Amino acid sequence: MDVTIAADRAGLVKARDALGPGSIALVPTMGALHEGHRSLIRLAREHADHVVVSVFVNPLQFGPGEDFSRYPRTFDADLAVCEEEGVGVVFAPSAEDMYLPDRQVEVSAGPMGGVAEGAFRPGHFDGVLTVVLKLFNLVRPDVAVFGQKDAQQLALIRRMVADLDVPVSIVGAPTVREPDGLALSSRNRYLSEADRRTALALSRALRAGVARAGTAGPAGILDAAQAVLEEAARFDPPLLLDYLILADPATFGPVGDDHRGEAILAVAAKVGATRLIDNMPLTLS
Ligand code: AMP
Repeated sequence: MDVTIAADRAGLVKARDALGPGSIALVPTMGALHEGHRSLIRLAREHADHVVVSVFVNPLQFGPGEDFSRYPRTFDADLAVCEEEGVGVVFAPSAEDMYLPDRQVEVSAGPMGGVAEGAFRPGHFDGVLTVVLKLFNLVRPDVAVFGQKDAQQLALIRRMVADLDVPVSIVGAPTVREPDGLALSSRNRYLSEADRRTALALSRALRAGVARAGTAGPAGILDAAQAVLEEAARFDPPLLLDYLILADPATFGPVGDDHRGEAILAVAAKVGATRLIDNMPLTLS
């Protein structure tokens, strides 16, 4: 069956109801779809009878001076991807349709929205949770799929669903990488060849940290990752580190030195004009 395009909220509700009986999985995206998004759609199809993909560059989650206006918009190619992957409905609203001109109420991400990535992007996670809750209310999916690439976002969405009793199951999908380790991202298309060489230090640093997890504590893991990032700070162009954190998956605060069990090693840095994030999970024994 062909994919139905819903260009506004009213069209979405109609297209959703026309899907017929069966369960629905939602995959929220900002478009510029790549293999990572495809893997989410495939996982969504394993979990439900119908898949709805949203393509919406959400102005609420971009701060002043961030890349909202130059974020890649490739709708025709995105639609072709969705068709190939058997998506039922693509929801691609305008910002004017999504947000009422007199809107006032937003979701607050709370303390967990102010640490790690949230400390560098004030208000970002409030914007993410607000749009995701709206998408949940419009699509009313049984399941929603999000990537571990955005680990703090995934953790906050699980938190929102638990704290606000949202009736949807959240599925996390592993990060898809290039063969050389670079995590796929819509922003990778901004990278020059030289930028890309520097950007490889992100995944290299994470791997160096993860490799120490069996033998070292948090300080040793962070030191190993930090050494790789410091070397890349001397590359041309240099890697400009925003943060490296070994985070508690429950709070995204830094783990204590006596922490045992699951943790997430997360990094964010600028390379040229592009800001990249990456993370890897590990277990402290
Ligand atoms: P975005 O379009 O960047 O907002 O991402 C939409 C969804 O795709 C989010 O749930 C992301 O975590 C996920 N995603 C982005 N990059 C990857 C990747 N390399 N592997 C797996 N999922 C990803």
